[in-house]
Amino acid sequence: MNDLRSAPVRTRYAPSPTGPQHIGGIRSALFGWLYARRHGGQFILRIEDTDQKRTVPGAVELIQESFDWLGIDIDEGPREGGEYGPYVQSDRLELYQSWAKRLVAQGHAYKCFATAEELSEMRALGRGYDRRYRDIPDWQAAELEAQGKSYVIRFKMPQSGVTVGADMIRGQVEFDNTQLQDAVILKSDGYPTYHLAHIVDDYHMRISHVTRAVEWLPSFPLHLSIWEALGWEKPQFAHLPVMLNPNGKGKLSKRRQQFAESGRSVPVLAREFMEAGYLPEAVINFLINIGWNFGDDREVFSLNEAIERFDLKDVNPANSAYPIKKLDWLNSQYMQRADVDKLARRLKPVLESAGYRVDEERLRQVVPLLQVRLKTLRDAAPMAGFFFADWSTFEAPPHQILIQRKMTVDGARMVLSRSLPTLEDLEDFSAAAQHAAMTRLAKDLGLKNGQVFGTLRAAVTGQRVSPPTFETMEILGRDESLRRIKLALESLALATN
Ligand code: GLU
Repeated sequence: MNDLRSAPVRTRYAPSPTGPQHIGGIRSALFGWLYARRHGGQFILRIEDTDQKRTVPGAVELIQESFDWLGIDIDEGPREGGEYGPYVQSDRLELYQSWAKRLVAQGHAYKCFATAEELSEMRALGRGYDRRYRDIPDWQAAELEAQGKSYVIRFKMPQSGVTVGADMIRGQVEFDNTQLQDAVILKSDGYPTYHLAHIVDDYHMRISHVTRAVEWLPSFPLHLSIWEALGWEKPQFAHLPVMLNPNGKGKLSKRRQQFAESGRSVPVLAREFMEAGYLPEAVINFLINIGWNFGDDREVFSLNEAIERFDLKDVNPANSAYPIKKLDWLNSQYMQRADVDKLARRLKPVLESAGYRVDEERLRQVVPLLQVRLKTLRDAAPMAGFFFADWSTFEAPPHQILIQRKMTVDGARMVLSRSLPTLEDLEDFSAAAQHAAMTRLAKDLGLKNGQVFGTLRAAVTGQRVSPPTFETMEILGRDESLRRIKLALESLALATN
């Protein structure tokens, strides 16, 4: 027997490969991962594919992709290998079968020959499985088997008393044994159920702490009894809270959420966070913050800081509503703090997939203007794509963009025609020099700064929203800026008030 108290911390994430990764699962994984890292232990990925009907091809790759994107490193798993593999349950069937047989031989489990009809009759009575094969004599079971009758193996649950379990988050939990059924541990096709498979694996993979969703708490007494029957020293358990829908009602749905927040639909699958242009660091911070507090009222912290402080004991047992409003805020915090080169590397493919050809040097100039303004990477294209478009094909924007609110055609013309010589005469074309000159011009014209700056912005970017006007013109350069202002003037020449 392995002595788990002195053994290294080993935690695992054990998803069923039934489709893309739900963010609730990723959060559970993160808590296990943080605990392992905090204690210098290992984090294992195990694929629980014993429900073959629900297994989706390609799901394992999607799971790995999510971890890669988030930067959550896995020590042992199907791709990484490891001493305790294989890490996919369908490759370990013989192991489960041999333990199931052993449990039968020792009288802890039994073969149940109930047919589908028998089971549906029992269901109709509303009392669940009535244990009718639990105590049949061995010769009778042997006879039924010899007749080729198909059977499952069920675990013999105690029929009285209480089972007491220790949970790192919830403390002592007690269960009334009379409420429990004799669960199937091995199906008729030779596949184990979750109840047996995860215990056999957690034992053989030397898992020290089982971190899993609280939905498994009702089966906890069954699992504890199986651990006892097998005679193995149990790991510690932490049943993690789950995430609820943003309105606090019901478990967070797996389907893409249609509730919109500030005009965008909310991601729930790991891949959707990536596609929506969130930074992995922000997503991790966001997830860790749900159900666990850094303390000191801090909402933004690095992964290393979280590792130093994290303890399963501090996880809040209550399920929490998905705090979608925090995500954009956190993401913009991470955008602002990001290193320019790193952010540039992330923005490049986003701009390219929007059809722009990205010059890296220019991108590095643009990044500092964007990082204080973007909510997500995806916002970069509508806001700053024009920097990477073919400048020679730039056209003046339509009048309704060029002529700002509370401005007239004449006013816009005046602003543009007066700014031309002023900008031309500037000794240096820095944003600061432009700003000073245009502030003076606004005063001369009796206009507000915003009216002048906004008109120029529209003229040089063709957009209502963009990075600040003067920084933008500095990057476009004097010639290109003046050329665009002239184009705008030409277009306004044809306009009437
Ligand atoms: N395969 C189980 C699930 O996806 C794993 C639960 C566990 O972590 O033990 O819910």
